[in-house]
Amino acid sequence: MGGKIVSVGTTRDALHDPWIKKHRKQISEIDCAGKVVIPGFVDSHTHPVFASPRLIDFEKRIEGASYEQIAAAGGGIRSSLEGVRSATKAALQAKVLGVMNDMAAHGTTTIEAKSGYGLTVDSELKSLQAIREAASRWPGTIVPTLLGAHLVPREFADQPQKYVAIVCDEMIPRAAKQGLARFVDVFCDKGAFTAGQAEQIFESAVKQGLHVRAHMGQLSETRLAPFLRFNPASFDHMDHVSDDDVAQLSKHGTIATLVPGANYFLGLKEYPNARRLIDAGVPIALATDYNPGTSPTVSMPMAMSLACTQMKMSPAEAIAAATINGAWALRIADHKGSIEPGKDADLALFDLDDYREIPYWYGANHCRLTLLNGIVFRGGASAHVGTRNTSARG
Ligand SMILES: [Zn+2]
Repeated sequence: MGGKIVSVGTTRDALHDPWIKKHRKQISEIDCAGKVVIPGFVDSHTHPVFASPRLIDFEKRIEGASYEQIAAAGGGIRSSLEGVRSATKAALQAKVLGVMNDMAAHGTTTIEAKSGYGLTVDSELKSLQAIREAASRWPGTIVPTLLGAHLVPREFADQPQKYVAIVCDEMIPRAAKQGLARFVDVFCDKGAFTAGQAEQIFESAVKQGLHVRAHMGQLSETRLAPFLRFNPASFDHMDHVSDDDVAQLSKHGTIATLVPGANYFLGLKEYPNARRLIDAGVPIALATDYNPGTSPTVSMPMAMSLACTQMKMSPAEAIAAATINGAWALRIADHKGSIEPGKDADLALFDLDDYREIPYWYGANHCRLTLLNGIVFRGGASAHVGTRNTSARG
């Protein structure tokens, strides 16, 4: 009903639902018998606004260069800036929409989308506008994030503080005023922003009424406890985190978003220690970290497969992390992330017999159909089903 789930249960139960009884004739049925239906994936960490893949970085890394060496040689995040700065908004919008469709084809129905490859006020706002325009053409749900603090651009290399001031005093207020972002994100790590700078950026975000999240502990450890006063929704990556911070997080409810696709693509032997976080009671979300440098994948099933094989999460834990916990990480769990009456009708249908096969058949896409806010999407095309509602049977 209006893109919402009306009833959950057996076909028998659903047919007794008063709303369904009344509107039976207008409902199209999708027969899901013998298939797996789960909540649509909530990919809570993606960087879709870029112009080109980074194939030179890819080859250099294969030859043995590290993340830092590639950045020092002019590759890395900085090499994506020119493409975004010179691109038209329409071109970026088309690119982002293409990614959203690819993601939907793999079972994703909600996407957090970050800016962060422009790093000027104009190009960051342009990136967020491209996200907004792509979102208006896509039936799923987009949560936009300003990542103006992705890296200090080269023109401010000698005066990073000046760039932080631009982020705090211009970028964040303008993005907030135009309603272009729900979250502000910071890449807090060596070679990016210091903890002190991240606090300044968080302060500005909170003052503008935006929620905060951060890339933390990917390359090195940053103390997390001092940031909890900003009530962050999520800390992402979390390869390096102290026992003390893990204990603090478990008390606070901040989600740890793990992105094993980045570890895989960087060829790292170490993955974030998911079991340690779970054992301590820290809720974990899984995301693709879709981006051109370190994780060019749209596939949540691939992230889940890596979570199972490399981080020893069970298939059930991986599904929860890829759906409801992703929704918590975006502060939308009241209407996303699980199949419950009243929640948004976001479903993914897999041509499989058992949910454990989703992470098991890695590298293959078995998603046959997604339902995004009640609208059916079959790999490339979306169409309204019925007039008001869809009931999935199975
Ligand atoms: Zn990221």
